[in-house]
Amino acid sequence: MSDSKPTSNTSAPHEDAKTQTTCGGCELLCEDLPVRSIKSGTGCTAADKWFGHGDPLPQTTIDGKEVFLNDAIHEAAARLLSAQRPLLTGLASTTLDAIQIACRIADCIDASVDANDYENLILTAPTAIRVGRVSADLEELRDRADLVIFWGVDPSMKSTRFIERFIKPEPHNGNRRTISVGMTPAVTPSSYNLHFPVPEEQHVSLARLVNAHLAQKEASVSSPDGLDDIAHQLHQFIDAARCVGFVSTQPAETTGLVKWSLSKLIQSLAHQKPCFEIPLNQRASSEGGNLAGIGAVCTWHFGSSGAIPRASSSGSMFLPAEADAQHLIKRDEVDCIFIVGRIPRQIKGLLAEDSGSKTVIHITDESNDASFKNSIRLACASLSASTKGSMLRSDGRLITLRPFETACLPSMQNILDKLLDRLAVHTRNEGST
Ligand code: SF4
Repeated sequence: MSDSKPTSNTSAPHEDAKTQTTCGGCELLCEDLPVRSIKSGTGCTAADKWFGHGDPLPQTTIDGKEVFLNDAIHEAAARLLSAQRPLLTGLASTTLDAIQIACRIADCIDASVDANDYENLILTAPTAIRVGRVSADLEELRDRADLVIFWGVDPSMKSTRFIERFIKPEPHNGNRRTISVGMTPAVTPSSYNLHFPVPEEQHVSLARLVNAHLAQKEASVSSPDGLDDIAHQLHQFIDAARCVGFVSTQPAETTGLVKWSLSKLIQSLAHQKPCFEIPLNQRASSEGGNLAGIGAVCTWHFGSSGAIPRASSSGSMFLPAEADAQHLIKRDEVDCIFIVGRIPRQIKGLLAEDSGSKTVIHITDESNDASFKNSIRLACASLSASTKGSMLRSDGRLITLRPFETACLPSMQNILDKLLDRLAVHTRNEGST
């Protein structure tokens, strides 16, 4: 039970409701979504999933039994404090302010922290840290790039508005050509939209071959049949372009070599002409689009973007592919999982396999998420329709959310604040005894 029990999640809109709202469904954080389209279908599959949660209202429960919110917060604090190895995860569906409070909670309970960002799963650590990245904002891609090369195409990109918003509009300097490198084309092939069906395992060789063509050197690698011809064609198109944008997505491999080789190629090209990478790091889903915000807040708070084995505001270790959420859960190295917001689907899958040995504490606006044994669910107001605050777009731009429904439940931030207060009381009491 919430402390005051509402009956419906759909209430009268604010008097000052705007006709357009911000969608937090993926890292693009579109600010132009018509409010009237939310119920009837937005035209974006990922947005429909993002807004399609929370009706009927989520319930606050302890081990499956409905309880008052304050009782659940009290119990959640006790279980977090008694955990030997807590893990803080989720976070991508929440605001920057909420993430900051969650980080302070992690600090209080010495939790591991990882939001399940792909780059924290890469063995050799994020590409930007290793080799640097020449990047630009999304509007720069839209307005300046007369050649866009999709380097590996994540099929889930097609369920977002990326192509509609940033590829279809003509650039300021004329027509735009696109080239898809990967097994599926990002854009329907035509004379201006080419497709080179190169499997991911050849992407490193292809990047090195294009680099060799640029440097007018013999490639030092033997390449599969036809790859050198593709490299030659790519080189010619790049040569003819005024500004080149590479759009990269998450490769399946986790050594980091695909991303590394592409970054090196872009670095070389950027010495010759405007050239940059737009990394789309997140698979579209309903888990929320604030991964860049998590990276920024965690880096500011702990010194690294995630994969943090033990939170400490005085500096934490960064152990990619070691202390990331998935590895910690798989290796049974956590006994309590504190999930803030929508659950990343990989984490949901891992928890479904767990026999109930782990405590799950989940602050959620989801009405239909899996209920876990040994769990506390703290129901919060809709993250997609009623939450105020800001998120960071994948290119680092600050985006303000524009709630269009009155909240019927306490906000995520409010619940986190209360939980932090409760933990502080416990900690003070312990200190005085
Ligand atoms: S592209 Fe992403 S942010 Fe834009 S409407 Fe679709 S889900 Fe929302």
